[in-house]
Amino acid sequence: MGLYTTNLAADKKPEIATGTAFVYHPDYQKHVLEEGHPESPARLQAILKRLKEGGLEKELLQVKTSGKPMDYIKKVHGKEHLAIIQSYPNEAICQLAVQGGCTGIDQVMSGKVRNAFCAVRPPGHHAVDGLHTKQAQAFGFCFYSNVAIAARYAQLKYKLKKILIIDWDYHHGNSTEWAFYTDPSVLFFSTHDLRAFPGTGSADKKGAGAGLGFNINAPLPPGATDKDILTAFEKKLLPAAEKFKPDLILISAGFDSRKDDLLGNFKITDDGFIALTKMVMELAKKHCKSRLVSILEGGYNVQGLALATEAHLKTMLKEK
Ligand SMILES: [Zn+2]
Repeated sequence: MGLYTTNLAADKKPEIATGTAFVYHPDYQKHVLEEGHPESPARLQAILKRLKEGGLEKELLQVKTSGKPMDYIKKVHGKEHLAIIQSYPNEAICQLAVQGGCTGIDQVMSGKVRNAFCAVRPPGHHAVDGLHTKQAQAFGFCFYSNVAIAARYAQLKYKLKKILIIDWDYHHGNSTEWAFYTDPSVLFFSTHDLRAFPGTGSADKKGAGAGLGFNINAPLPPGATDKDILTAFEKKLLPAAEKFKPDLILISAGFDSRKDDLLGNFKITDDGFIALTKMVMELAKKHCKSRLVSILEGGYNVQGLALATEAHLKTMLKEK
């Protein structure tokens, strides 16, 4: 009888993992663009401090970024872009940022955790080939397209067919759009301020060729609120995601769309980010065994960034 009970218990082992990985590497703090630049090491320092003080640090699975992403970087960026970025003294840290997303995917795909947040720098969603200067001037503070490369990594290493990328950064994820514009295997959804840098992201850009319909831009008005962004998610993301049925969801988690950011004018609150996180988790639960990897993009009011990240992570960890 005891044996029977044991076997029954084993059969009932839940298919969905629990827990949240926090992927990080101390070298992310060694990347400095210039003195006083908003995309600074203080951003990650503020996140780490908040997670420690709020007690969440202990509840997350702390994972150090590891591995080599170059084979996958080459799937997104061409030789010319690589040559320019490789002339940059901090190129190794840019690779490490890419690898952060891949490490998060490894954690989720191995079943060690239900989802992962990757606290990486530099960000990636503006890194488009042809837009960097010969001096490796960061385009929108970005060097390699972290989230796009992570999507390719998931497809190639884990044979996942369909990846949904959700970008709630204040700025349009032009690099992600560029990487997958003709590709129906990646559904890209972005909310942003059309009037802000880089000026792309109009709603009529819907993809091309086989990728037509798989690029969804949902520009929001200046001063956009929780209601504005939640409505865009409900009306434009949810129906498309239901049809697409992703095998994995990635978030380009930019928190410069939060209220009081230095570079943005949206008014998204931490409760707004909690609601967005729940909505995305619901999609992941329904379609892809809750597999969700969130990768940091912008967020330049360091206190605000820390609070929004904490709210996002708490939801990822505790929401059923
Ligand atoms: Zn941004």
